[in-house]
Amino acid sequence: MPGGAMGLGENLCQVEERVSQACARCGRSPDEVTLIAVSKTRSVAQVREAHRLGLRDLGENRVEELEEKRAALDDLLADDPPRWHLIGHVQSRKARQAAVLADLVHSVDSMRLARRLDRCAGEVDRVLPVLLELNVSGEESKYGFAAETDEQVDALVEEIRDLGSMAHLNVLGLMTMAPIVEDPEMARPVFVRLRAIRDELRARCPWTLWSELSMGMTDDFSVAIEEGATMIRVGRAIFGPATY
Ligand SMILES: *Cc1c(COP(=O)(O)O)cnc(C)c1O
Repeated sequence: MPGGAMGLGENLCQVEERVSQACARCGRSPDEVTLIAVSKTRSVAQVREAHRLGLRDLGENRVEELEEKRAALDDLLADDPPRWHLIGHVQSRKARQAAVLADLVHSVDSMRLARRLDRCAGEVDRVLPVLLELNVSGEESKYGFAAETDEQVDALVEEIRDLGSMAHLNVLGLMTMAPIVEDPEMARPVFVRLRAIRDELRARCPWTLWSELSMGMTDDFSVAIEEGATMIRVGRAIFGPATY
């Protein structure tokens, strides 16, 4: 089992070791991979411990929880601030808080949300870094721009045309969630496809560099790194099994 009974420190060492091994297998440097500690449902004390151990990228999937955690950890923000990643679906009515509180929104899954975030970020005079979430596997339960077929990618290129001119959004790249599968190898085609779409967007939508690929979680981050992930989002392997 990932995480389990060990302390956060040991868990983190193991994750870092696995990141190094995956990087070694594909000739990448671990510096190219940002480890995001997904702290959703974890206590403030646990997040403090993660920060003490040197983790500076924290992920939350709900705007409300991001707001609570940020407020509770405000003293950390002062001298050695973590970066807060918003990784879950953002409801329209939460867009304003998201645009204020997040350092990077991974889950921009519609043009409607993009326009709203752009407007809200403008109101507080900031440029909000974002990723576009793509639904590569075609699972109906998943959020994200449809990108399972080549026709859908053609449509995506058309649909996101206006993004390049939104002055208060900075599109850094793509995010996806792989299906939950027993064998992480089964997630590999999803990661391969996200990278291929990234390469295509680089050619067809050159108004940004598309440099970031946010993909890979506890069960599949090694495979995601081998396929080019620049950000992995890891909860259970760091904090142990989720407690609701
Ligand atoms: C919870 C969550 C993760 C982390 O999942 P683990 O399996 O605990 O590593 C990653 N990404 C998103 C979007 C999540 O909601």
